[in-house]
Parts: sequence; C-alpha cells; structure tokens
Amino acid sequence: MKDNPKEFEALDLDAHAFFFDFDGTLADIALHPRDVFLTTELRRSILSLSLRTGGAVAIITGRNRAEIHPHLGEELPVAGLHGVDFPADAEGSAANSDAERRILAVRPLLPALAELVKAHPGALLEDKGQGLALHWRGAPMAEAAMMVAAERTLEQLGQEWSLQPGKCVAEIRPVGGDKGTALLRFMTQPPFEGRRPIAFGDDLNDLPMFEAARSLGGLAVALGERDLPADIRLSGPAELAEWLERRLDA
Ligand SMILES: [Mg+2]
Repeated sequence: MKDNPKEFEALDLDAHAFFFDFDGTLADIALHPRDVFLTTELRRSILSLSLRTGGAVAIITGRNRAEIHPHLGEELPVAGLHGVDFPADAEGSAANSDAERRILAVRPLLPALAELVKAHPGALLEDKGQGLALHWRGAPMAEAAMMVAAERTLEQLGQEWSLQPGKCVAEIRPVGGDKGTALLRFMTQPPFEGRRPIAFGDDLNDLPMFEAARSLGGLAVALGERDLPADIRLSGPAELAEWLERRLDA
C-alpha cells in the first residue's frame, strides 16, 4: 500500500461515509457463493467502524440483502441486487410490487438453465429472486456456453433487464438502479448526508459506485488484481482489514 496517498492512511472517520461491496472486497471469493465468509477481524472492524461513524457504513452488493445479514447482523444497512433492492423507505411498497413481478418473470426460465448448468460440471446457477447469475469459476471451459445462455435469457426477459458481466460470472439483473444510484441514495439520508463518501469494490459492477463517490468529491478504493480506475489500491480483504484496524486504533 506504500504508493497510496498519505491522506488515505489518515482518513478522518468523523468526516467520511463508507460503502463496501461484499464479495471480493470484504470477503475473498470462493468457488461457490455460499462458501464465502468474512474473517472475525474484518467483521469486528466493520461493526466498530459503523459505531465509530454514527452508522455511516453501508454494504452495496450484488447479492440479496438477506444474504448479508448472517455475516454482519441486521443493523448495518445493505443495498442488494446492485442497488435495486434498497432498504425499506417511503418508496417501499411500490418497490415491493415491482420485486414480485420480477421474481415471477425469472421463475419459468430457471429449469432450462439448471439443465444447462448440469451439463457443465463445476458451473453454477444462482437464483437471486429478482435475477439470476451463471457462474463458471469451477468450469472455465463453460464460459462461452454460459455467456450464450445469459444473452438468450436477457432476450427472453426483455428491456427491463440487463446483463452484468463479472469475474467468472454473468448476471441478469433488473435495470433501474446500480451501485452508484444506491450510494447516491444513501448519501441523501442521515447519517451519511454531509459526509464524504469512500467506496470500496473489486469488480466492474462497482464502477458506478466509484463514479458516484467521486462525483461527491469522495474516493474510490479498488481491491484485488483487476485494473479498475481508482484513487487507492489494496491487495484484498486482508489488507483492507489491516488498514481499518490502524484507522480504528488511531
Ligand atoms: Mg465484488
């Protein structure tokens, strides 16, 4: 981390808001999404950071919100499905009927995709409720077949959906939100409002969140080996944990 600006080492926790992606950022990526875990140290640091900043810490993830709670508890705000699944607020009920409609649109497509995945041992279909993901980390040869299937699925679902590529994954998700809009939405609310946002991510789907943080004068922090446009670079969750510990001890 020696090349990172001094400013980052001395970041004032009272003036900043912190937004973390989950997979690849807080937790190392595993072969199967359900095997991903948060180290005890990092969990403790994130929760301390939340306390220390009066709650100005949120998770912005591609997963369902409910999948994050077992790792970090239900107190920490989570925007799921790349920001489409935002914590309940005044717009909550309209969002719920949209969610139901999307879940119903995805259901009929799952059996054929499950069959396809079965034909590629190591590949994986993830049912995300309002969307789905095809993973091939365990079956690198299946990439072309999975991409074709993802594109066909997108055609079947229509214009309200988009294809989000990632590391060994193609994801179909609803349009109408991304991690950037989720960050901006958090920033209009206390206790985030008035602070300077710092966004931490490791993949292409984090770029809108990076742009959103920068648009408010904040910083983008990239983790891992992917060459994302960012202000700060960390090697992975372990280095993030070390940085957080140093900041919390300061
Ligand atoms: Mg990630």
